[in-house]
Amino acid sequence: MIPGGESTTIGRLMQEFRLGDKILERAAQGMPIWGTCAGMILLAKDIAGSEQYRLGLMDIRVKRNAFGRQVDSFETDLDIEGLGQTRGVFIRAPYVEDCWGGARVLCRFRDIIVMVEQGRQYLATAFHPELTESRDVHRYFLDMMRI
Ligand code: GLN
Repeated sequence: MIPGGESTTIGRLMQEFRLGDKILERAAQGMPIWGTCAGMILLAKDIAGSEQYRLGLMDIRVKRNAFGRQVDSFETDLDIEGLGQTRGVFIRAPYVEDCWGGARVLCRFRDIIVMVEQGRQYLATAFHPELTESRDVHRYFLDMMRI
């Protein structure tokens, strides 16, 4: 799990403590990874207008702070493919501007991509399922790993 937070800070620490290299090593061996919000940014190959550190494991281009500032954070109902309705909490969230290759869109909010999976190994959510009572997305991630 790569949690939310500040992707530039998490990325800097990943570099400084060489955690990023370790994660990439394990990912190459098949370790599943789910990134939420800042975690999604760190999984992306492309970050619009930014050169910041990233793991670059998913075929997605993300836009940071794409819904506005902290005060523009919001909650909404989402409809996720293969999962159904869930509640989405967006906190200064990014969204996915584009995806290609192995990335598959699982959820859009008003035409905007907010959840993507890749190869049954990587999952990215722009929102925070850990801030709701529902465990549906957590269960989805576990099922994904089982194949
Ligand atoms: N805005 C943060 C970033 O760009 C992400 C916010 C979050 O993880 N809730 O890294």
